[in-house]
Amino acid sequence: MNTDRDWKEEFRDALKTAADLKDFFEADFPEVNYPLFIPKVFAAKILHAGPDSPLWNQFLPKSEENNIDIGRLDPIGDKVHAKNNQLIHRYENRALFTPTTVCPILCRYCFRKNELASSDEIFDQKFKEAIAYLQVYPEINEIIFTGGDPFILSNEKIAYYLQEFSEIESIKYIRFHTRTPIILPSRIDEGLVAVLQSSKELFKRSMVMIHVNHDSEITEDVEAAIKELTDNGIEVFSQSVLLKGVNDSTEALYELFSKLADMKVRPYYLHHPDEARGAMHFYMDLETGRKIFAPLHNKLPGWALPQYIIDIPGGEGKTQAYNPESFEFSGSLINRIGEKVKIR
Ligand code: SF4
Repeated sequence: MNTDRDWKEEFRDALKTAADLKDFFEADFPEVNYPLFIPKVFAAKILHAGPDSPLWNQFLPKSEENNIDIGRLDPIGDKVHAKNNQLIHRYENRALFTPTTVCPILCRYCFRKNELASSDEIFDQKFKEAIAYLQVYPEINEIIFTGGDPFILSNEKIAYYLQEFSEIESIKYIRFHTRTPIILPSRIDEGLVAVLQSSKELFKRSMVMIHVNHDSEITEDVEAAIKELTDNGIEVFSQSVLLKGVNDSTEALYELFSKLADMKVRPYYLHHPDEARGAMHFYMDLETGRKIFAPLHNKLPGWALPQYIIDIPGGEGKTQAYNPESFEFSGSLINRIGEKVKIR
């Protein structure tokens, strides 16, 4: 297993400018309005996959990103529900905790790309205020570590946050949303595994939700890192985003979810793409998504079939994206409290 120092070095050794990309990939890329960041260890995988591959399309910039006339700055309404500078409280029972804005890579399709590119105050360091908020709202029983990416934090910092949350009686469940095991599998070191195991003692359930969109992301080193988690008794789920030009076929999704199931990872969410400004070239309509998703019912066992969900724009929350009665979209969706919301 790699040491803590190895993953930090791999993380720092990254491509950050259009000139870096040109040198590394020996190809021209457009100047775009959003920052670039690709660790070289992962860039080598993109290079191996080649132009227009699912890896290339997810992480290398395209001129369409500069089309800022369409798409939303805050597509899922984080700002609407930001109760504190580190907490987003959208659903009654759970809160998103954003301890960092740093990611192991910058995905071109990111729904938070406009927030991460700014110095948005949602992500300021105000941990004590977050704790105070949780003490006032005991109906919050789950903390979801997100960001940025929480696994970019040191093991000591993650352990500190877990200890602080464990002292709030109402917090029963912990979830980590992370892309790091895919981008920097060496991050799954002994120290992190130990912290995650201790989390199981502090809370009733503690789980890791890996963000993965295509089976070509699951290389041997990634598979070994995830096995390190599952072999040590850590519950691992997955979430994926349906993306035009990346995984927008039943076959691609089937390959991804069956591979995850074989690795003892429970496919949990398939997100319909968000209408994020600068990422609309990955977007597709609901009818298209439903037609791609429907045949998976015939190909995968129920426990390997994720929920196909959509975040209703404007902060209305997640709801089911799949309609078993019709592929057509009426123009309205039922939000998290049962109200009909018109979005088209
Ligand atoms: S890792 Fe997640 S938050 Fe970070 S850029 Fe990618 S999609 Fe966005």
